[in-house]
Amino acid sequence: MVDYNVRVGPFVVCKTGKAEKTKTLFGCVKCKKSKERHLGFCDKCGTKLGEFVVTYIDDKVDDFEVMEHIKDRLFTANVFEYSKIEGVHVYLSNIKYGEKREADVGPPDFNGMQEIDPRDVPEEIVRFETRFEKDLKYMRSLYASVEVKWGILAWCS
Ligand SMILES: [Zn+2]
Repeated sequence: MVDYNVRVGPFVVCKTGKAEKTKTLFGCVKCKKSKERHLGFCDKCGTKLGEFVVTYIDDKVDDFEVMEHIKDRLFTANVFEYSKIEGVHVYLSNIKYGEKREADVGPPDFNGMQEIDPRDVPEEIVRFETRFEKDLKYMRSLYASVEVKWGILAWCS
């Protein structure tokens, strides 16, 4: 069963930036290739196998670590199309505050009309920034950029 969700309101767009990370592998220390431990020696060059460190480029920020730190007050499951753009995390509110415009739009519940007063938009952004001030501050200390936007998010869950 797939749920189609639409939410209209404020959300956060964060650019992660890239960082060099390291990890330890087991294999040929000369060829820098992973090998199974039981082989003992490299099948290519005969060098005794051991541990070695490789560096790689990855997103600077892990969104799951962020959500843990901010106690899931904002969440991103990386299910949004937008989030599939490399290095961009989109967060939205996971707690009740002020106006929440969210609807299941899949069958059989496809219905609904709600008027939005455009004058409410700037006020909603301010309310969002106030409510999540601490969380946004924390996110700004990690991400390359953090912007609060107002619009439509649609996703399947
Ligand atoms: Zn080797």
